[in-house]
Amino acid sequence: MTNNKVSKKDIAGLLEQWSQQFAVFAPSKASGVAAFAEWDGKDTGFLEWYRNTVVPPKASFFPPMEEMFRFQKGEEGYNIKPPPKAERSQLLFGIRPCDARAMAILDMTFKDTYEDPYYLSRRKNALLVGLGCTNPYESCFCTSMGTSPTDSTDVDLMLVDIGDDFLIEEVTDKGKELIAKTKGLKEATKDDEAKAKQSKKTAYDRVTRKLDTEGIKDKLLASFDDEGFWKKTAAKCISCGICTLLCPTCFCFDINDELVKQEGTRFRSWDSCGFPNYTKMPMENPRQEKWRRVRQKVCHKYEFYPMTFDVIACTGCGRCIRLCPVNWDITRVIESVPTKTEVKK
Ligand code: SF4
Ligand code: SF4
Repeated sequence: MTNNKVSKKDIAGLLEQWSQQFAVFAPSKASGVAAFAEWDGKDTGFLEWYRNTVVPPKASFFPPMEEMFRFQKGEEGYNIKPPPKAERSQLLFGIRPCDARAMAILDMTFKDTYEDPYYLSRRKNALLVGLGCTNPYESCFCTSMGTSPTDSTDVDLMLVDIGDDFLIEEVTDKGKELIAKTKGLKEATKDDEAKAKQSKKTAYDRVTRKLDTEGIKDKLLASFDDEGFWKKTAAKCISCGICTLLCPTCFCFDINDELVKQEGTRFRSWDSCGFPNYTKMPMENPRQEKWRRVRQKVCHKYEFYPMTFDVIACTGCGRCIRLCPVNWDITRVIESVPTKTEVKK
């Protein structure tokens, strides 16, 4: 199959066309931090500044705060009113491959024993348009985590930078259908394909941070009770929760009711296993001490998730390294997990 290409100058026209069918979201700094926001119909300035968003794209499907339902006390119990459903499906333009992989990982959680209707209703008809990275951060290590700056595995379409144009790889049937309806694209030439190949290689080579995860699940299993190691690992963490709230694969949430007289609203909001109250129960808190919470965060991603879903719940996006106020670095932690023979009990 021959790929198509689109000129960078024509991206606004492309998004305009897609806006007829989808609610188009693109990288934006309108809120003060880089995040996906509904496209304003003209701005494509993100093509200049965008490396990755601070707020991961999980926020489009699992918002930081959302209304689950409203309730009202009636004569025979409570009447429940679900929130209005979004009318249009979302198209995320510019998602990075590491974050698209994170969405595939989150799908596993939200489709597991209990199917989460809030997340899945948004996710079901959404379209992910990937934008390959050309300028990864020093903190990125996606190539060690089974993906790469231009990996198209988890998107519907992938755009690869080839200079003045983007080459468009059609990945899924949904992506192909959209391209078939899109006007103004040109067929990519052999020269364009060669440029795309080179662009992918250059981007791959720019990810210089490496992490060896060989045997990590077993190493973490063996070192679970090594209190000395975990206390040392947790020492400088200030339990701010940033690394978990902004991790694209983290999904902890809290549920609260707001009640005024006989009427109320139930909300859910992002929470973090890094917060002392997260596991507080009437009789005890099994993770009162910080080192137990840090252990939970690391083991959940690199030990428990692989045990349940056979995949490490870290995509190497590097956000937790870039954004941690005290330079706690998950790659250094994973590298320092003791081997079986080194474990101290
Ligand atoms: S961002 Fe850093 S300081 Fe904050 S909870 Fe994570 S490791 Fe701890
Ligand atoms: S643990 Fe860190 S590097 Fe891994 S996916 Fe989460 S934020 Fe990204």
